[in-house]
Amino acid sequence: MDPHTEPSAVEVIRDPRDFQARLIRARHAGQRVAFVPTMGALHEGHLTLAREGRARVGPEGLVAISIFVNPTQFGPNEDLSKYPRELSRDLVLCASAGVDVVFAPDTAAMYPEGEQTRVTVSSLTAPLCGVFRPGHFEGVTTIVSKLFALSGPCVALFGRKDYQQWRVIERMTRDLLLPVEVVGVPTVREANGLALSSRNRYLSDDERARAAEIPRALGYAVREWESGARDAARIRDEVDTRLRAIATSVDYIEVRDADTLEHYRDESTRAVLAIAVRVGTTRLIDNVVLGEESAPV
Ligand code: AMP
Repeated sequence: MDPHTEPSAVEVIRDPRDFQARLIRARHAGQRVAFVPTMGALHEGHLTLAREGRARVGPEGLVAISIFVNPTQFGPNEDLSKYPRELSRDLVLCASAGVDVVFAPDTAAMYPEGEQTRVTVSSLTAPLCGVFRPGHFEGVTTIVSKLFALSGPCVALFGRKDYQQWRVIERMTRDLLLPVEVVGVPTVREANGLALSSRNRYLSDDERARAAEIPRALGYAVREWESGARDAARIRDEVDTRLRAIATSVDYIEVRDADTLEHYRDESTRAVLAIAVRVGTTRLIDNVVLGEESAPV
């Protein structure tokens, strides 16, 4: 590669205390810090979070990404061992997106010998993915609180694609009085509307074509809502019919209060349509906040 077009190398930190010290130094030097926690296998969704972080801290600020496949958020029958790990490719992408620091710890560093501490958020983690992935959110909130303990004051960017996760982390951050501003970034999609995910690579061509029905079904719901329909149960049922036609199995298709994640009741609350289905063996999640977001396709 021409040395003039090669993205400048990104700084990689493995040790949690070094990462913590690096960000303390940055803030002492007057830099604002943006932080994007990920599990790696980066795609345009992750890079969009990094660019949003850059926009928020400015050219003089520091943008950090963590890459850590967090074992405690995977259930015993989930894809921990086959989750894609490709650090050198990720580092190239980070450099091209203007990331300054990549924090890539190993498991023993994040879960020290003898560890026995977990962070739990109650009601928000109960429905939706909480039903089908017991312990998942506890793993997420535990690792994110560790990461925030290391990052210190920062703006942290999360994808709204993982809507429930975003709301749970927002709640945890407020409840624990953490010095972090949590920002939810709109879902980044492929041209056909499918939400980008590190797991999309598992889809065969046929499964990918079937999965394209997900954004179409969400788009149907958005348009119904935009045209004034408020019969959430009827809209849900139609989305259910459409998705059962392409899915191998359905975990949930629900309209929920977008703030509390309780069952949607009436127009006094905002509504999120959230789905989790399996296409082949790949579990896909997606959502749209009705009346606020445009149709994915
Ligand atoms: P993951 O590596 O899958 O744990 O995701 C790391 C972060 O990237 C989370 O905040 C996700 O919500 C976010 N993210 C993943 N996919 C997308 C997407 N398609 N659009 C926006 N954010 C995303």
